[in-house]
Amino acid sequence: MRTIRSFVILIALFGAFTAHAQTPAPVTILISIDGFRPDYLDRGITPRLAGLRETGVFASMRPSFPTKTFPNHYTIVTGLRPDHHGITGNSMIDPARPGQMFSLGNSSQSLDPFWWDQAEPIWMTAENAGIRTGTMFWPGSEVAIRGVRPQDWQRFDQNISNVQRVNAVLDWQRRPDDIRPRFVTLYFDTVDMAGHIHGIEAPETDAAITEVDTRIGELVDGLAAMGRGANIVIISDHGMATIDATRVVQLDELIDPSFYTLVESGPYAAIEPAAGTDDHVFETFLQPHENMSCSRREELPAHLEFGANPRVTAIICRADAGWVIISGEPRYPIAGATHGWDNFAPDMRATFLANGPAFTSARAPDVIDNVDVYPLLARLIGITPLPHDGDPLIADALLVD
Ligand code: AMP
Ligand code: ZN
Ligand code: ZN
Repeated sequence: MRTIRSFVILIALFGAFTAHAQTPAPVTILISIDGFRPDYLDRGITPRLAGLRETGVFASMRPSFPTKTFPNHYTIVTGLRPDHHGITGNSMIDPARPGQMFSLGNSSQSLDPFWWDQAEPIWMTAENAGIRTGTMFWPGSEVAIRGVRPQDWQRFDQNISNVQRVNAVLDWQRRPDDIRPRFVTLYFDTVDMAGHIHGIEAPETDAAITEVDTRIGELVDGLAAMGRGANIVIISDHGMATIDATRVVQLDELIDPSFYTLVESGPYAAIEPAAGTDDHVFETFLQPHENMSCSRREELPAHLEFGANPRVTAIICRADAGWVIISGEPRYPIAGATHGWDNFAPDMRATFLANGPAFTSARAPDVIDNVDVYPLLARLIGITPLPHDGDPLIADALLVD
């Protein structure tokens, strides 16, 4: 009897030992550096990112139109163009919600699942498959989309420093196996902010770039110190281009602003005629203008893949490169840099950089599209991707198996 019991204990111990000795699958960490132009990596001020590029894969990445933060972050985690995932702008209206407007700063709207429910983000598919996820900020992650949120998530707050953000991710990775997130997002907004306010070439922007580089270095070192394998995918949502007060299209010179609602302004304008004013508003905008071109949403150039979602306003005006469209007095001086132009514009190019045991050292295609990131993430996490707009062959080219 005693020998049998000892034998059983031995077997149990052996089982526990082998289970422990198996290396857990690497965590997938998706990092967004908002507004990070790919050429920021060529300034010689990002030693840690340069190291990751050297031993990983790098490509310049075409964003989706409109080249704004919310639409592109939702594209990265759904593989869908904004027309298909429903986050068609940083600001939006919807015919089903008359009189209301979504904007990223208005939490009563931006946290309402109504706006996000047209698609299923990757953390939701993972959670439904029993894979734990954690988001240290990501647009949409604070919202219970179709009833599901990441098990660890944070309400967006710019006052949470980049150091705190990295520490939160490291703390999650220190947890025991059963409560440790296997897919994690991490978001930095300081490079975008510095670019907007100070401009692309400013020392303040260089400082923000270097600070984020340092933080990512600390994340990599922290993971290595705890022996945690990780596949790290670093992306940006769009590029950045210089603006100034001499390149402004003032809509008030064309038409009285009471005739329409201006849902977005800047590199593109989203215009919805007020009830009963359609003819006048269409007539005014649809003629040729200097430094901007306006179309009905049904007639936008095909390469934008934009205009089919009912949330796209009836008229979209696109400013020439470097020009911005405004109505009334600008809320901020027109200076520094911004984004929102054509997604094929060279200055709107975003960044893709990945490193980890799953990635080949083979050369990545020179340009990838941001809808291709989703099938890649699905492969890394080990879930079946939902139908998407990306090219699954990109993952084949970048991954080891
Ligand atoms: P954009 O000008 O389109 O690049 O927007 C960038 C801004 O979006 C950042 O400076 C943040 O303040 C804001 N932002 C990013 N993520 C969120 C979020 N989850 N909730 C609210 N605002 C956010
Ligand atoms: Zn952005
Ligand atoms: Zn921005």
